[in-house]
Amino acid sequence: MGRYFGTSGIREVVNEKLTPELALRVGRALGTFLGDGKVVVGMDTRTSSEMLKNALISGLLSTGIDVIDIGIAPTPLTGFAIKLYEADAGVTITASHNPPEYNGIKVWQSNGMAYTSDMENELEKIMESGAFKKAGWNEIGRLSHVNPREEYIRKVLNMIELEDSYTVVVDTGNGAGSLVSPYLQRELGNKVISLNAHPSGYFVRELEPNEKSLEWLARTVKVTKADVGIAHDGDADRIGVVDDRGNFVEYETMLSLISGYMLRKFGKGKIITTVDAGFALDDYVESLGGEVIRVKVGDVAVAEGIVREDAIFGGEPSGTWIIPQWNLTPDGIFAGALVVEMIDKLGPLSELVREVPRYVTKRAKLPCPNEKKGKAMKIIKREVLESFEYERLIDIDGLRIENSDWWVLFRPSGTEPIMRITLEAHTREKAEELMDKAKKLVEKAIKQA
Ligand code: MG
Repeated sequence: MGRYFGTSGIREVVNEKLTPELALRVGRALGTFLGDGKVVVGMDTRTSSEMLKNALISGLLSTGIDVIDIGIAPTPLTGFAIKLYEADAGVTITASHNPPEYNGIKVWQSNGMAYTSDMENELEKIMESGAFKKAGWNEIGRLSHVNPREEYIRKVLNMIELEDSYTVVVDTGNGAGSLVSPYLQRELGNKVISLNAHPSGYFVRELEPNEKSLEWLARTVKVTKADVGIAHDGDADRIGVVDDRGNFVEYETMLSLISGYMLRKFGKGKIITTVDAGFALDDYVESLGGEVIRVKVGDVAVAEGIVREDAIFGGEPSGTWIIPQWNLTPDGIFAGALVVEMIDKLGPLSELVREVPRYVTKRAKLPCPNEKKGKAMKIIKREVLESFEYERLIDIDGLRIENSDWWVLFRPSGTEPIMRITLEAHTREKAEELMDKAKKLVEKAIKQA
């Protein structure tokens, strides 16, 4: 991680660390990095997005880069537009699920994949050096405004087929998904009920689509006797799902179900997930003849894993799914269409949910200053080797140890001063015993670090 870019681009409080000046410098650096070509820029619904977008666009134009401004656009629409207009990169102005006082800048490659940390480091170097490319008066970039939404919907309709029509409640959380997701569902032939679909930048619910924030969605699904509820975060790269009985479907369960559906749709294949995903996915995917491969946490690692392994699907247990037959940008809106297609082909979600094995998951976060994280992880590793008996160790991102019926992951947060423990076991007793032991070990390590 660099000075500006964290685990998911730049994400800061507006007009404190994230100023128009910083956005301008990112634009100048990206333009310098690319040399020439064109860049798609989209933004979420935050009150600060327009301000930051215009500064960033100025920076890009000053280097001679042409800019295609697609206005308020969910991240997946930016990813789609990059390919549609054959752009050299894309930028989303978004802070994803953070509170409204935040905003962010995330950069995308020409293939729809997010910038890797190496690429972000290159941008930082240019930002630090101040050696920006300056285009002559007759070489300043040109700015155009287009809206690729209709094209996006038309292309999804070519890929998703429904035999029947469904009642779908869509909760877009006042985010950028409001402009696409409910419309796509309607074009698919469904009856749509929208919640929180005024894209104002004033968020009615917490933006992360979880069980608590989706209470109203769950209730609405129940009273309207809908077939499914679909929700997104602020930039709609993520999906949260409520079944036809009005129950929130756990992220892990949904990840298993959709992986299983992709295996049925495309035949055998590989599924990419991250080191914090549980056993249910392996059990379910293997029962359908597929194979699970784990990578680092984050959508870049998942996208890279998909390309490297020629996988048919990739997803994180945070509701971030990448559907490579569609794009390498995480897409919660396409995901919503895919969920309805799955229901159309396989039956009601509340019944499908029962097919997936469920284990006991526990999560804990312990305060740990950023500067202590490295040393604490070293101590944790040493102590774990001594005090746990396990069959397999994965250390591509944090430290994960596993046996046939449990696993524990120790991982420093990339965005907050905390150390995370995530674990899973077949029984509640075992899960509690493991958490007890893991917590003591981590507390001790943080103290010693
Ligand atoms: Mg997001």
